[in-house]
Amino acid sequence: MITINNYVKVSSLQEAYELNQKRTNRVLGGMMWLRLGAGRVQTAIDLSGLGLDYIEEDEEEFRIGAMCTLRELELHEGLARYFDGAVKESVRHIVGVQFRNGATVGGSIFGRFGFSDVLTCFLAMDAYVELFRGGIIPLKEFIQMKRDNDILVSIHVKKDQRKVVYMSERAAATDFPLVACAVAIKGEKIFCSVGARPMKAILLEDVCPKKEEAGDFARKSAKAVPFGSNMRAGEAYRRQIAGVLIRRGIEKIMEG
Ligand SMILES: Cc1cc2nc3c(=O)[nH]c(=O)nc-3n(C[C@H](O)[C@H](O)[C@H](O)COP(=O)(O)OP(=O)(O)OC[C@H]3O[C@@H](n4cnc5c(N)ncnc54)[C@H](O)[C@@H]3O)c2cc1C
Repeated sequence: MITINNYVKVSSLQEAYELNQKRTNRVLGGMMWLRLGAGRVQTAIDLSGLGLDYIEEDEEEFRIGAMCTLRELELHEGLARYFDGAVKESVRHIVGVQFRNGATVGGSIFGRFGFSDVLTCFLAMDAYVELFRGGIIPLKEFIQMKRDNDILVSIHVKKDQRKVVYMSERAAATDFPLVACAVAIKGEKIFCSVGARPMKAILLEDVCPKKEEAGDFARKSAKAVPFGSNMRAGEAYRRQIAGVLIRRGIEKIMEG
């Protein structure tokens, strides 16, 4: 059980950042993950009064506030239209509607969980994180960074004409993914993001194969990804499934 000594609903990002510099303080997202932990939090930092629960869209990009819930991602018509339902597909298996009404985009991305469908999906897109102190940096750089005490403000996803497909393999519908995979194609380039390895998602960037070469390309790509074993699945199984998902993703995009 987690014990919280003080609770502060902050009125600015500056206040949140300053409070978060103390190691024993903790930013709250939806608390769906945090509450399962143990230990004592000196001050819980609630961002819910900062208006970060938005999804904005203009001609260039989507901007998704850190306090936007997974359910809001799932239901957003602009995201569904632009990414052909890929974002919705990445979250629809996560526990249940009530849960997705609580879990936030900020907690999901900042947590950099190995099993994260959300991270895997956005990694195949031209996505950036906006940090209060660190500014705007590519998501693929952010996931390599050591965890620090910054505040995640929003995610920016560029409208760069990428075609994206998201798929996952699960033992049961609402369980954690055994393997997660997003494939995106933009012109001559292909982006394959593989998550739940069980380590956090990894991004492969390559020249897009022809449709008839998709199987070979997918096997070669899956071979290049480091996988591991845990109680859910073994390394060899994950590699096999990842190859299948990558091939299906390519074929699906090419078949339009
Ligand atoms: C039972 C269960 C099953 C799950 N299954 C899946 C699944 O199948 N697929 C999947 O992708 N995910 C899954 N998740 C993870 C879930 O989707 C969320 O990613 C997770 O709950 C974190 O989101 P949250 O809003 O609850 O964050 P919290 O639990 O509140 O926070 C998580 C961490 O992020 C930090 N944090 C939160 N917001 C910010 C911010 N704005 N800036 C800086 N730091 C911040 C917190 O301090 C904390 O360390 C599961 C979680 C649970 C509990």
